[in-house]
Amino acid sequence: MSFHGVRGSTACHGRETQRYGGNTSCVSVDFGASSPLIFDLGTGLRYINCQTESSEPKPFVGSCLLTHLHWDHTQGLPFFKSLLHPETVLDIYAPKQPDGASLREIFLKKIAPPTFPICLNEFEATINFHEIGDDDFSIGDVQVMSRFVPHTGPTLGFRVVANNATVTYLSDHQQPLGEFALTTGARQLCQNTDLLIHDSQFTPAEFEVKSDWGHSTIEFAMWVAETTSAKRLALFHHDPSRTDDALDVIANRLAGVAKNRGFEVFAAADEMSVEVSAVVS
Ligand SMILES: [Zn+2]
Ligand SMILES: [Zn+2]
Repeated sequence: MSFHGVRGSTACHGRETQRYGGNTSCVSVDFGASSPLIFDLGTGLRYINCQTESSEPKPFVGSCLLTHLHWDHTQGLPFFKSLLHPETVLDIYAPKQPDGASLREIFLKKIAPPTFPICLNEFEATINFHEIGDDDFSIGDVQVMSRFVPHTGPTLGFRVVANNATVTYLSDHQQPLGEFALTTGARQLCQNTDLLIHDSQFTPAEFEVKSDWGHSTIEFAMWVAETTSAKRLALFHHDPSRTDDALDVIANRLAGVAKNRGFEVFAAADEMSVEVSAVVS
């Protein structure tokens, strides 16, 4: 699997963030025989099925598990070059909305003049929307579990299993205001996973003043990994103000702590690829 965008909230740019990267949430998982799976459609999407700027668009046939509709998770969609190819088929699985609004209608309003030059349905590609909630289903050979998780607005987390390897994606996840705890759904997603990709936006000091912004501290992500016996934790959805040097310090400090608690931790970075396989113990 590969990280294409690891930032939360907004894309960022500059010398202080160039090593970990500044694109917003987008991760791809390639299970070999099955068609590719993408988590979220942030600005990192532009680098999937990547071509040089001058090359012709290439077709893409695959699926996206979309956690929610916030900008940082959807902004890459109209810049995904494969949408310009008529053989592209993108299936987007996203949370059903409480007011019953159709996902297609929402995206047709979101990607349209005057806020974007063309309308979403003017792209050559076929885009299918699937409205989901607390569900268990398959996409090809991949088993998918989706569960609503606390954030701001309807938001899903995902657990995917293929070839005996499990990846959990919990990109935007509101930490409880008091004692650390997990909803039943979030625990189902994380339990014994091989790789947990978890919201790690805030330090405890930042969380004190932004406790209702829908996110987690790095310490909460560590607790979730430990309490659900995850094998590896990828710190993800970094705050745009978090510099490369600060992430180095955090990752180095936590490596030993995680080892003592029985798992590995690393800070996800744009363009990082990770092999995921079931750890036999
Ligand atoms: Zn986000
Ligand atoms: Zn969000």
